[in-house]
Amino acid sequence: MSLQRIFQADAYGQQPVTQNFWHRAFEPEVLGEPLQEEHSCEVAIVGGGYTGLSAALKLAQQGVDVAVLDARHIGWGASGRNGGFCCLGGTIAEDDELIRRYGEVEARRYFYAERAAIDLVAELLDQYEIDADVASKGETVLAHKPRRVDQLKDTAADIQKRYGISCHFHGKDELTELGMNASGLSAGLTIPVGFALHPYKYARGLAAAVKSQGARFYEQTEVLSIVPADDGQYVLKVRKGHLRAQKVLLATNGYSSENMPEWLAGKYLPVQSNILMTRPLSEEELKRQGWFSNQMAYDTRTLLHYFRLLPDNRMMFGMRGSVSAAPQARERMRQAARRDLERMFPEWAKVETPDFWSGLACLTNNLVPFVGAVPNTSGLYAAFGYHGNGVAMATYAGQLIAHEMLGEATNLAYPAFLKTAPTLFPFGSMRRHLLALSYTWFSLKDRIF
Ligand SMILES: Cc1cc2nc3c(=O)[nH]c(=O)nc-3n(C[C@H](O)[C@H](O)[C@H](O)COP(=O)(O)OP(=O)(O)OC[C@H]3O[C@@H](n4cnc5c(N)ncnc54)[C@H](O)[C@@H]3O)c2cc1C
Repeated sequence: MSLQRIFQADAYGQQPVTQNFWHRAFEPEVLGEPLQEEHSCEVAIVGGGYTGLSAALKLAQQGVDVAVLDARHIGWGASGRNGGFCCLGGTIAEDDELIRRYGEVEARRYFYAERAAIDLVAELLDQYEIDADVASKGETVLAHKPRRVDQLKDTAADIQKRYGISCHFHGKDELTELGMNASGLSAGLTIPVGFALHPYKYARGLAAAVKSQGARFYEQTEVLSIVPADDGQYVLKVRKGHLRAQKVLLATNGYSSENMPEWLAGKYLPVQSNILMTRPLSEEELKRQGWFSNQMAYDTRTLLHYFRLLPDNRMMFGMRGSVSAAPQARERMRQAARRDLERMFPEWAKVETPDFWSGLACLTNNLVPFVGAVPNTSGLYAAFGYHGNGVAMATYAGQLIAHEMLGEATNLAYPAFLKTAPTLFPFGSMRRHLLALSYTWFSLKDRIF
């Protein structure tokens, strides 16, 4: 029995995270031993990232006997590797597209959910006293070319229309005053919602909260299959045992498999994202470059760069990855990230970048997340597909799906379209190659326009 995945095996191993600053700076305690022999629970959650943890928290609070299983350790996936932008997002469908497909009311419900998701993370940090190095007041979009300034104005109008939020426009001089000086920038726009956090501290803090509510963890426990049993329960098979559960949540997002269970085949598309991190920069180095803001920021490229200065003055610099997870491809991505960092921040051209890591985020063919029951089953649920913006939305989706599993109404905004199963991507298990064409076109577009 082996899991069929659509990236090379390397993407699912340790190599992409050996130089992960978040993991390196924060040694986790073991939360659970590998599952051995036979056990049972009411709800089994496969995947110990934000989705699984947030769902586990809600369920455990309601007295449900929950077990969270992760193939590695809790927070090992994208939840312990991301840029920590807790921001609006989760879909990459345009507003008009959402309205055309699902109607104005449903689309608005989603926009409301995006804001509520950020508030939810803030509440959890507060309620469980999770110290996750929170910083940044909203996020700032930076025009990487003069001709992209109009795009910022369009973004401000869209944000106003979508969320009723007024953004602040910054000319080049104001950006410099704000400590956001980088090569090629023409203007900026601050969207005053959201904040930055240490993603792994957040994941591990959530896990501690889950544990405090009585849930169990099984780490280093890869689920190999989920088989319906005669009594209506499910049997989750792992290498050295199995777990019987009344209900199961698939919370594997970009780390999902085509055959675990087969329903997932073709319904998700993992995409690689990479982060390069400098060593701590001195005050002098920050001053020379003119970047000393801790604002989380990204540029107007379609294949965008996302970056922010951490509390100890390391610069975190993220960009989308390649369609290959082979070691040579990862090295090329590291070099590309380094080249782009040097171009944007020429004063730091000689600064060491000891950390570089990659991870898998997840797209759906419908361009919106799926958060619902697996059709034609009883007791099997899934939540995935946050389109690279899951810090807030995966946390929120976890709570939504927990309500759904409990069969209780929620006063959280829960657009009905999130419960519609994603359509299939073309090209089956070769579908990641679809990305190659888009990447080439987007990078050309970013250079020309
Ligand atoms: C480099 C990078 C940067 C990002 N930056 C941002 C950002 O700044 N802001 C933002 O909002 N989002 C960002 N994202 C996206 C965000 O991290 C994800 O959307 C979010 O973490 C998804 O959480 P999750 O719990 O659904 O999945 P994950 O955190 O990926 O968890 C899935 C887990 O499932 C486990 N698993 C898989 N298969 C099995 C199995 N068979 N048995 C047992 N366990 C299994 C894996 O081990 C993994 O731990 C980024 C992603 C990446 C990769």
